[in-house]
Amino acid sequence: MSSRLTVNGREYAWPRCPTVVICVDGCAPDYLDQAIAAGHMPFFATMRRRGLDLAAECVVPSFTNPNNLSIVTGVPPAIHGICGNYLIDPDSGEAVMMNDPRFLRCGTLLAAFAEAGARVAVVTAKDKLRALLGHGLPLAEGRCVCFSAEKSDRATLAEHGIAGVTDLVGMATPSVYSAELSEFVFAAGVRLLETAPFDLIYLSTTDYIQHKHAPGSAAANGFYGMMDRYLARLDRLGATIALTADHGMSAKHDAEGRPNVVYLQDLADGLLGPGRARVILPITDPYVVHHGALGGFAVIYLASAADGPALAERLAATPGIAEILPRDEACARFALPPDREGDLIVIAAPAWTLGASPDQHDLSQLREPLRSHGGTSEQRVPLVVNRTGEVRPSHRPRNFDAFALALNGTL
Ligand SMILES: [Zn+2]
Repeated sequence: MSSRLTVNGREYAWPRCPTVVICVDGCAPDYLDQAIAAGHMPFFATMRRRGLDLAAECVVPSFTNPNNLSIVTGVPPAIHGICGNYLIDPDSGEAVMMNDPRFLRCGTLLAAFAEAGARVAVVTAKDKLRALLGHGLPLAEGRCVCFSAEKSDRATLAEHGIAGVTDLVGMATPSVYSAELSEFVFAAGVRLLETAPFDLIYLSTTDYIQHKHAPGSAAANGFYGMMDRYLARLDRLGATIALTADHGMSAKHDAEGRPNVVYLQDLADGLLGPGRARVILPITDPYVVHHGALGGFAVIYLASAADGPALAERLAATPGIAEILPRDEACARFALPPDREGDLIVIAAPAWTLGASPDQHDLSQLREPLRSHGGTSEQRVPLVVNRTGEVRPSHRPRNFDAFALALNGTL
């Protein structure tokens, strides 16, 4: 067994105790601050005080998949390739979901540790992430496991490395739109560690609560109180815990509770004529009920690159748009793969979202005023470890430093 591993150019120490990295989906730091202030997170308050408590930044676009993949590879999308939930496949010109491992351009550190002999477990709330997060894990051997809470009743030894998950966890498979889906992830993490000597565990929740409820609300505090009890149990089991988030979350509505949306396809068609620009919203996925596919980041593909400057100028003058960047500039600044981005990248202002045109967004399912993410205004995330450590003053902490910090104690 090696004492150190190099994965995607970064060095990691071999886990000396069970190491659990938790990605709390949509966890803007304010959720934690408010839950602690209201007394709902007694364990986490102590963990933050005694361990490492960093203000970190996530990857832009501040979406779930690019950030989860950054955390498990330790590198940004320019290297791992997953830059959204959705892209135009450069080979076919078709808009396709990017949840297939064929889009992944490097291995995960989880797979590298598993290959070197570590016992690795991955539990994700939604099944959409399972194939990417579990890519390269030797699941059929029964030493490593990877399953989703969403399809936990269907886990098999051959495909997920484990069967009988709901019995192990002691919970029925929750609805995909529920707080229990995330609770299942925490409960599974605790039960896995209680029953087998895992070296590395990655837990990834869902932002169902955060899309609906603001920091400090009763529902949010209840959720973080639940989380606190599981964190305390993981700590008592002797685990090193690193908690981070895939992105923050912002209110995206006006004083009357109506969503603030800039409809980019309509604007582009109005300026250039139909068929000249194609707007891709990489937040789009099969689970749109809580955000209506409205986020803070959009990509525009142009029939002719010559249309770029005029459209950029028009959009820059539109309220609700924070920034508009040509492809190369956006890729350099956010470490994105240029061959998977459009001609223009659009970033919404903090209280705004970007849509295509009104008929493409079903907002009838939004039960609460819109909260969403995707732009730079949701980039601040927590990075908290229940151990002491050291971070070079020159290092800008990122959420994808979580494994390095948990394993090495330094950044
Ligand atoms: Zn997310």
